[in-house]
Amino acid sequence: MRNQFQNPVDSGKELSSSSGMNKRVLQYYDDIQRIKNSLNSYYLLKEFDIPYPKMAYIYPTYQCSLSCKNCMYKDHLTEYTKNESLDMDISLFRNILQDLSSLGVMNVEFCGGGEPLEHSSIDKLIELASEFRRNKRMDFGLLTNGQNISGLDESTVEIILESFAYIRLSYSERASADKKLREEYLCNLAKLIGYKNENNKLKATIGSKLLLTSKNKDQLLKTVFELLKLGVEHLKVKSIRSRDDEPSPEDLIQVEEELGSFKSEKTVKNVLKVDLGRTVFLHGFKCWINPLSVTIDPYGGIYICFNFHNDPENMMIGKYNENNSLSDFWGKSKHIEKILNINTKKVCKADNSCNCRYADYQKMMEEIFWKGLSTKYGEVNNESKSAIESKRIQKFL
Ligand code: SF4
Ligand code: SF4
Repeated sequence: MRNQFQNPVDSGKELSSSSGMNKRVLQYYDDIQRIKNSLNSYYLLKEFDIPYPKMAYIYPTYQCSLSCKNCMYKDHLTEYTKNESLDMDISLFRNILQDLSSLGVMNVEFCGGGEPLEHSSIDKLIELASEFRRNKRMDFGLLTNGQNISGLDESTVEIILESFAYIRLSYSERASADKKLREEYLCNLAKLIGYKNENNKLKATIGSKLLLTSKNKDQLLKTVFELLKLGVEHLKVKSIRSRDDEPSPEDLIQVEEELGSFKSEKTVKNVLKVDLGRTVFLHGFKCWINPLSVTIDPYGGIYICFNFHNDPENMMIGKYNENNSLSDFWGKSKHIEKILNINTKKVCKADNSCNCRYADYQKMMEEIFWKGLSTKYGEVNNESKSAIESKRIQKFL
């Protein structure tokens, strides 16, 4: 068995430019080149040519009642609860969608934590998303811990399954530690799958996400098995990004190997995505590809990466209100400076690697740029075309 996690040099993922996940980003080849060129010429240029992001991660609320031990967001609860709501204002949400659609940012994920479905007017936010889906052809995805599905109106569940491209239920640390929560999670997932099976006009892909930690190897493997049996259409397994709770190299190898045996079954192959390693940059790492996405917190704060919580000062480039636009901040010198000064040691938990998919995209693009494009570019264009033509969920990064 090949030990791909043993030491820093070997611990990186193989550069897999042929993998489906990486192909997705090739359709943005020209935009990525514009980002790279702008950053390379920062000291010579007065105006920059950073394209608007392809994907927006919106955090509707910081509220979440689960209190997982490993929650990165819990500081927001104590920081703001005394004075402010933890929810995004509905008119601010509408303005953001209006602005993003006018700038061509057509893919939006309701993201957490907190927990999007704990927004006090989540039904209204979902109706608004559905309106922008109908009128502006925007695409939406929903990330949730899955515990609140049973509290939603049936009509809201239907709107999600009808208008959203995907719904992904992340299996929380609390659900893994609490039998009742675990049952609720599985039951809610089964309920969604049941709805969809009964009604073929419901299109959302129903998925699940599990995080491998230093303590949950056995339960994770058991849960993967249960979820596959339940009929999830997408199942992602990643390792946690936390120095205190990281799985050991031995656990990574064992889990990778056991999940590899699940994947040998034809029906599981396209459902189960295992992405446990970190993308390693042997000569150090500066993330420059982050402008492919933008992150917006419940107060309208605009951040350069969804992993902003441990470095808000250096990651925020501006703030939405009900009248302004992303264009007031995006691609301006403050934005460029924040990208150039990104502290990967803090944000990605290492200065030579990250387990985020954008690091993977960056490594692939660097290799393509480095190798020269004369023949390779032809291949890229073909791959790019197939990515564009592929099913809707692939529009999301
Ligand atoms: S479910 Fe997510 S947001 Fe909620 S407490 Fe757990 S980690 Fe935090
Ligand atoms: S590689 Fe690191 S800095 Fe870049 S987008 Fe991912 S988490 Fe953020």
